[in-house]
Amino acid sequence: CGIVGFTGRREASPILLEGLRRLEYRGYDSAGLVTSTGSQLHLRKKAGRLSELGKVVSAHPAPGCHGISHTRWATHGGATDNNSHPHLNETNDIALVHNGVIENFAALKHQLQTSGVQFRSDTDTEVLAHLISHYYHGDLVTAVRQALALVKGTYGIAVIAKAEPGVIVGARLGSPLVVGVGADGTYLASDANALAGFAEKVVYLTDRQICVLSETDWEVRDQDLSPVSVS
Ligand code: GLU
Repeated sequence: CGIVGFTGRREASPILLEGLRRLEYRGYDSAGLVTSTGSQLHLRKKAGRLSELGKVVSAHPAPGCHGISHTRWATHGGATDNNSHPHLNETNDIALVHNGVIENFAALKHQLQTSGVQFRSDTDTEVLAHLISHYYHGDLVTAVRQALALVKGTYGIAVIAKAEPGVIVGARLGSPLVVGVGADGTYLASDANALAGFAEKVVYLTDRQICVLSETDWEVRDQDLSPVSVS
């Protein structure tokens, strides 16, 4: 339902929680975030109100200046902690949040399970984490592109990989996504409202575009990863 990501020179988790709070009016049943310190991904997620996630993060802080977060409106799988986003690959080094519906998730899940992948949730979203992981050989944007080529449905996604500190990859089809540029770093959100006061400039992605964010830079590419010039 709601997505907020940040990479920059401030602790990510307070920015992520504040951004999600501004998207609360859209409705949701669970919330979660993941931050990166390079050596480790720090996952915190909880069914229920955003204040429940806030309590978890207070008790078990998620350090790092790089992270993504989500408020979920469940379409596939109940409103449980496990079904909350972010979803990770099996080795816990790739994490993803997703708005929308993966229509062919059952066939993709069956294929992945047949090849031995263990699922941890009942969501349609989790197939994307495992598909991206399958194609990941050190270049996240290439893996995201290859995974999305197999997907039918709608998505706004944000993805991070432990091995690529500071990098967030986003993509959209039928679900909004906006890049924000601020003095302290670079932002990604499903709604520009989340970034008010944080970002001085916002850039709206169009369907099938992919964006790559770092602490100090951002770029938009088309579905073949060719650069798109946006002002
Ligand atoms: N289909 C996904 C799920 O049920 C994402 C729902 C959303 O857009 O929040 O987990």
